[in-house]
Amino acid sequence: MELEKNVIQDVIANLSFQTKAFIGGRTLSALSGKTFSTENPATGQPLADIAECDEKDVAIAVQCARKAFEDGSWSRMSPADRKRILFKFADLIEKHEAELAVTESLEAGKPITDCVTIDIPETVGCIRWHAEAADKIYDQISQTGPDNIGMIVREPIGVVGAVIPWNFPALMMAWKIGPALATGNSVIVKPAELTSLSALRIAELSAQAGIPDGVFNVVPGFGETAGRAIGRHMDIDAVTFTGSTEVGRMFLQYAAESNLKRIVLECGGKSPQVVMGDVADLDAVASNAVNCIFWNMGENCTAGSRLIVHKSIKDTLLEKIIALTAEWKVGNPLDPATKIGSMIEKPHMEKVLSYIEAGKAEGAKLILGGNRVLAETGGYFVEPTIFDNVTNDMKIAREEIFGPVLAAITFEDEAEAVALANDTPYGLAASVYTDNVNAAHRLSRALRAGTVSVNCYSEGDITTPFGGYKESGFGGRDNGIHAHEQYTEIKTIWMQL
Ligand code: NAD
Repeated sequence: MELEKNVIQDVIANLSFQTKAFIGGRTLSALSGKTFSTENPATGQPLADIAECDEKDVAIAVQCARKAFEDGSWSRMSPADRKRILFKFADLIEKHEAELAVTESLEAGKPITDCVTIDIPETVGCIRWHAEAADKIYDQISQTGPDNIGMIVREPIGVVGAVIPWNFPALMMAWKIGPALATGNSVIVKPAELTSLSALRIAELSAQAGIPDGVFNVVPGFGETAGRAIGRHMDIDAVTFTGSTEVGRMFLQYAAESNLKRIVLECGGKSPQVVMGDVADLDAVASNAVNCIFWNMGENCTAGSRLIVHKSIKDTLLEKIIALTAEWKVGNPLDPATKIGSMIEKPHMEKVLSYIEAGKAEGAKLILGGNRVLAETGGYFVEPTIFDNVTNDMKIAREEIFGPVLAAITFEDEAEAVALANDTPYGLAASVYTDNVNAAHRLSRALRAGTVSVNCYSEGDITTPFGGYKESGFGGRDNGIHAHEQYTEIKTIWMQL
């Protein structure tokens, strides 16, 4: 689906945001009566005032979620029936695709074309995929002697907290709620405070679909209050988190200080794109490389921010990358031609610009971009930026910038390429480009990352597990059937015959 400009204007004219919390099947103000405002980062103008939930609201959401879990209306519903309701839920999200896409573009500064062709369709696809799996997973029986039966069954873990980032608001939520709901859990979502609106609207649709009250709750609010309350609550059985490594670490602490709830973390990255000297089609590499770093303004956990390239082809490849970057138009996120929208907020834009300054100060050579642009709009836009002559010890090569900034680093042989690529505390994703099939196998095994894409940039798809090695992840995977494991407990039922 593509949205024409006039359709976008019609959608905006009819938008009315759902700004209250969604708890126990009802839309509610925060108990404190407080609200917080979000803004449109492409204009700097206020967008909506949203219920500011805190520990007390989280406590009520947990009570509702627990009650729903115990009454079995969802947790003990036949998986085939859960599947039917989740299909309806996905259909409703799809029906509201234009509204949700425009909402996310307005609130997150994301290009509307991405929202409408990637974020919302993949949200729908994710829920459908896990729904479809609900009644297709079998339990096991162990190889006992004739006097016993040992059944190994999976049961929903209970009440799941999902704490979500702002870069793909609906999609990251779907990655959590798809498998958690399909396996029969009750869920409490805390969206990022900068992007609550699509989650709140989707919560309303969940009730229309027939998901029982209390099974799906959304508590908007700040990390230090609502997020922390989820992490420390004694009656939440698991927390699934996507966000920065820094906050992910806190969730491990919260669990240790409370009830040892299970923690699943999908965190940051500093992903390498390794280009071997034997590649003939450098145009294809350049096209993938540009997409890998500039898609979603570089506000992407798998952004390939380190271009680790053989020194013999570096100059040619960078020329091609620069030429292609000209097609990545920075502009109004609501313009279907825009490929790079605004940074999520002013402090984040300033952080990205400070990394660019650090790159210059440390001696990297700025060969493209480097500036804030379109400041007259009131929005927070940064142009695509490329550094040459980067070494892997520089700040721009070590820290996650989460912006449109590419750092080119050269190597001389395969061993050096692997060493450079793995010399990072992160391990979320990596890309490898080579025409040598043996090198492709060697490198894809040698790189310490949860997803390695060969001769392309890809995160895999809904069928393949997604998550990180090292400080990029902990305790599980999103996507694929593997994601069901973290939302279920294994029970052994041992019977004497
Ligand atoms: P963030 O860590 O600042 O926030 C994520 C969530 O945690 C938000 O809902 C926030 O309110 C909450 N939070 C913040 N402080 C908290 C606290 N003290 N206690 C409890 N909760 C708290 O991350 P962000 O800025 O929203 O997102 C960007 C980060 O997310 C990047 O590091 C990016 O790499 C990562 N990310 C990872 C993946 C992945 O799948 N690995 C996907 C998308 C984004």
